[in-house]
Amino acid sequence: MSTELKEGTTEKVIVAAKPRQTNCDQKDVKGKPCWGFLKAWTNPPSELTRKIPAGEVLYRCQTCLALYHGKPIRHVQRSTERP
Ligand SMILES: [Zn+2]
Repeated sequence: MSTELKEGTTEKVIVAAKPRQTNCDQKDVKGKPCWGFLKAWTNPPSELTRKIPAGEVLYRCQTCLALYHGKPIRHVQRSTERP
């Protein structure tokens, strides 16, 4: 008997973002990277947040809507050090 698994499932793959990655590198059918801007998804559905590691956030490509997960990008950190 076959399982319930089907090809072409609507389930989205969430790609692990590389450190400091801010642009989408998903390649299209011609092998050309997308380079769309990855924007933090501030209010993603819980079914997606459950799939990513705790402490990470979801990012979504503004061009192809690929999903990424990664550490939250911090804005300029307050530091006592001076350049
Ligand atoms: Zn993209």
